[in-house]
Amino acid sequence: MDWARSWKTTLFSLLEDIPVHLRPHVASISLDGTSATTLIIDSNTGEPLARPYLYNESCPDALPAIKSIAPVNHTVCSGSSTLCKLVSWWNNDNSDKTSTILLHQADWLLWLLHGQLGVSDYNNALKVGYDPELDSYPRWLLSQPYSRLLPVVKAPGTSIAHLKGDVRTLFGFSENCIVCTGTTDSIAAFLAARATKPGKAVTSLGSTLAIKLLSTTRIEDARYGVYSHRLDDKWLVGGASNTGGAVLKEIFTDEQLEKLSEHINPMESSPLNYYPLKSVGERFPVADPMMEPRLHPRPESDVVYLHGILESIARIEAKAYILLKDLGATQVEEVFTAGGGAKNDKWTKIRERILGLPVSQATQTEAAYGAALLAMKGA
Ligand code: ADP
Repeated sequence: MDWARSWKTTLFSLLEDIPVHLRPHVASISLDGTSATTLIIDSNTGEPLARPYLYNESCPDALPAIKSIAPVNHTVCSGSSTLCKLVSWWNNDNSDKTSTILLHQADWLLWLLHGQLGVSDYNNALKVGYDPELDSYPRWLLSQPYSRLLPVVKAPGTSIAHLKGDVRTLFGFSENCIVCTGTTDSIAAFLAARATKPGKAVTSLGSTLAIKLLSTTRIEDARYGVYSHRLDDKWLVGGASNTGGAVLKEIFTDEQLEKLSEHINPMESSPLNYYPLKSVGERFPVADPMMEPRLHPRPESDVVYLHGILESIARIEAKAYILLKDLGATQVEEVFTAGGGAKNDKWTKIRERILGLPVSQATQTEAAYGAALLAMKGA
């Protein structure tokens, strides 16, 4: 499939979806893209020179070279990092590389709107090796021949340029409309929840359990897959467990989850101690690739069983926040919830009891809402 073409088509059809009478009032535009989705671009035409590398593609052939130059356990030392994709392309593609540039998915789509080639943001650029603390590419990276392909990096939500004239006239946007740098999907989803103070966190209860906490300190620990994204003068600290809704889905339908949950008393603590996993292996908050799923004994009552599972996942969530604190992050004070499990009020009550914190459903969870907040910041 021609991914880049389909992204472009989708972007323009989204612009077309904006009601005609609202278009002249749009002051600024931003967007988010999937982290580590990478394009190698012809810097004369802006067109992709090869098919995009998708976020989850791995280029392990580049790992030895990268491990030999990057600090130990750096984010780029993973086969799916943007830098691995760049180096793999650099080593395997024989075409002339004089007029090439690397862009992330969000950067390229924004370029279609502002026309200034070679601009990125420090959230998207993290996995290509950008150091958001120094606010520059590190020296070990700049000394490499392929570093001249790296984009210029700005803070997310920084004005880049006015919306291109042809796009503006095609859709009827204002000549004052500006285009701003974007961010990654998961950061945009965090921004949507408007957890803007240190200590505020978002737990995402989707197929897996992911937590993100706003912290005044930056923490990294490759053992647990914990790392920090910069958000202005703060850090967005995150980690993801393999437990979560995917396990629930294997046992119960969504309707069953709803019905059974009605009968749970969230104030009563469950003595059942599970570690729900879909398959062997856990990383965060316990780094154990050999950890076995634990979902037994199964009581006769499905209500009791579900109660035990929900409470066990809540204990894993609590342990995750304690680990972040132990690694040096700001103490969590309040948790907003996103994902399919957020609507379960009984689970929310159980989590409040186990976490000892106020827990509520996030009002907005769509990444697009977070990108719109970035656009507002840049306006
Ligand atoms: P994804 O990570 O795939 O985007 P979603 O955020 O859509 O996941 O959430 C889907 C998950 O939510 C499913 O795994 C499902 O088991 C879980 N889920 C759905 N309804 C409920 C419920 N009432 N209580 C708890 N979990 C639920």
